[in-house]
Amino acid sequence: MSDSELSVGDPFEGTHTDSDEDYEPENRTEGRYNLKNLAAINFSSSDFSAEEESNAQQPKHLSHGNSTPPTDRRGRHEKRPNKLHEDINTKIREHILSFPRYKSHYSRKDNIHQKFFVENYNITFGKPKSDTCQKCDKLTNKINGANSDAEKKVLEREKSFHIVKADHFYTDLKDKTQLSKNDPKFEVITFDFQQNLPLPVSSSGEVFYKIQLWVFNFCEHLGSNGKSYFYIYDETLAGKGQNEVASLLLHFFNNFIRPEVTAIYIFSDNCASQNKNYMLVQFLHSLVETNRYRFICHRYPEPGHSFLPCDRSFGAIEQMKRKHDKIYLPRDYINIIKSANKHFEVIQVTQDFLFNFRDHFQRFFEKSVKQKFQIHTV
Ligand SMILES: [Zn+2]
Repeated sequence: MSDSELSVGDPFEGTHTDSDEDYEPENRTEGRYNLKNLAAINFSSSDFSAEEESNAQQPKHLSHGNSTPPTDRRGRHEKRPNKLHEDINTKIREHILSFPRYKSHYSRKDNIHQKFFVENYNITFGKPKSDTCQKCDKLTNKINGANSDAEKKVLEREKSFHIVKADHFYTDLKDKTQLSKNDPKFEVITFDFQQNLPLPVSSSGEVFYKIQLWVFNFCEHLGSNGKSYFYIYDETLAGKGQNEVASLLLHFFNNFIRPEVTAIYIFSDNCASQNKNYMLVQFLHSLVETNRYRFICHRYPEPGHSFLPCDRSFGAIEQMKRKHDKIYLPRDYINIIKSANKHFEVIQVTQDFLFNFRDHFQRFFEKSVKQKFQIHTV
């Protein structure tokens, strides 16, 4: 092998074990790796005839003086030996269609995914079973097992009414939220506790056998600006009862509600111990009686259909939480919440946030009411 043929030096010199025959020019057309050819093509093109040069010895785009690389054609060819035959596609489609299906109970409104799957497969994705509405499931089973058309009709009407009421709650929430954005006198608040957050979180199996410290996270979502405010504290400070809910609502009213607001719409789920009790009614009533606000309306959803903006915020936190396999301190949760969304604000609850409203209101209100509450249906 001469020096001129490897003018840039042989990177494999002294390392390859093949015989010199492998590097002879005649081997180059057989598609074998040929170091001598590389050197000749790159630096000694005059050694080849014009015909040889055009026979793909050089890349075409270079041989024509064009410095732009050719378009990458990978993945665009029609030779696809592994492509599924149309018959197999049809069978897959038939198999998908054989899955049991049911209509989502969350909303009757279409979304883009629902539209695609309904148009292409007539199926949609539902929530996991643990998250379905018990009443919807019960009525669906009864409808499927109805003995007569008349019975089926009655059950279908009952289910339809149930879903209409659920939809009405969400329509009202949407309308009132829009109102709060347009009129500074109105505000919309939704609130809820997140599922308890454990400490520590660790991949170590031993953690499961220890008593963990619970961290509580109370979310209050403001309709006018779309922000979520998280009141965070651990179980050594307080619990998750009606006193905590009223206390944290009061802090929220004092610090985050615009001063010009005179009417508030509150939306929360039906949890009796936290949100649907006499004490909370007494607390809200006192705010109106003392002329703090002109009007407060607290709305509860149809049981089983209580997905609120807070739940969407909790979903974002859970997603961020999954990225952390070690969480040791409450402040780690605070950082996780803050990083989950730029519209999330965290407030660390201290003892001076909390009041014993329950005992306080017992002095001003009867223990039992003679006239039962009137539930307004729409
Ligand atoms: Zn339902």
